Amino acid sequence: MSKISVDTARLPLLLNELRLPAIGRLWQDIAARADKEGWPAIRFLSALAELEVAERARRRIERHLLEARLPPAKTLDTFDFNAVPMLSKAHVMALASGDTWLSNGANLLLFGPPGSGKSHIAAAIGRVLVENGYRVLFSRTTDMVQRLQAERQSLQLAAAIAKLDRFDLVILDDISYVSKDQAETSVLFELIAARYERRSLMITANQPFGDWGKVFPDPAMTVAAIDRLVHHATIFEMNVESYRRRTAVGRKLKAELQPADAPA
Ligand code: ADP
Ligand code: MG
Repeated sequence: MSKISVDTARLPLLLNELRLPAIGRLWQDIAARADKEGWPAIRFLSALAELEVAERARRRIERHLLEARLPPAKTLDTFDFNAVPMLSKAHVMALASGDTWLSNGANLLLFGPPGSGKSHIAAAIGRVLVENGYRVLFSRTTDMVQRLQAERQSLQLAAAIAKLDRFDLVILDDISYVSKDQAETSVLFELIAARYERRSLMITANQPFGDWGKVFPDPAMTVAAIDRLVHHATIFEMNVESYRRRTAVGRKLKAELQPADAPA
């Protein structure tokens, strides 16, 4: 039997050229195992291919987590659903899995007083969606408006809004904090109208619609924006006392019940 010689020194170069870094890193270990256990060639090849694909998926999600600009540490694991009894955990979990609402371009609106956990749950849902392969962008609404206004000034608004299409979901946190002077241009309305029935928005606000008049240039546009947002929307009303204040009160009560000099 003739001995076939393999130029293993060339292999790393080939894998690099083909952009297969996971295989490049792992082939020696897998090859040693395959030789030892007498794997058929097809099993060896499939194992390498699986590794490269898994690594690609992991890197893609890592990239998408970075681009999503989610506030750190706001996850579903750290969210106390008991604090918001009107919020169904099962419903939140279903939304976080993506399914049909994102492919239909439906929206999610979260209302509740300051501290009720809107930003936390919005970020947490966003994070799970990214982990499930969706692309998400989290932005304070005022930042988004500022950015789109700059694009409008350089006559790039339509292109900028079209670029946001790559996100399955854009989260606009605190829409009611848009200031009167920011509302003079209608960039926010243009974003809402462009995504209507195509790409999803998640919006948080302290009040359901009551103070949205100052977010848009005129009442007709306010009505038109709300109309589009609610047409296909899930609405969560989180009417609970501020979680911050509640936990502060809890700590104070506990301190009072357990005087500092009491035995531990
Ligand atoms: P909002 O956006 O409604 O003003 P946040 O989401 O910023 O409120 O919540 C205020 C703080 O309280 C944050 O640090 C948040 O992580 C925490 N928080 C609010 N609700 C909850 C909850 N149900 N479980 C755990 N932490 C919460
Ligand atoms: Mg908030």
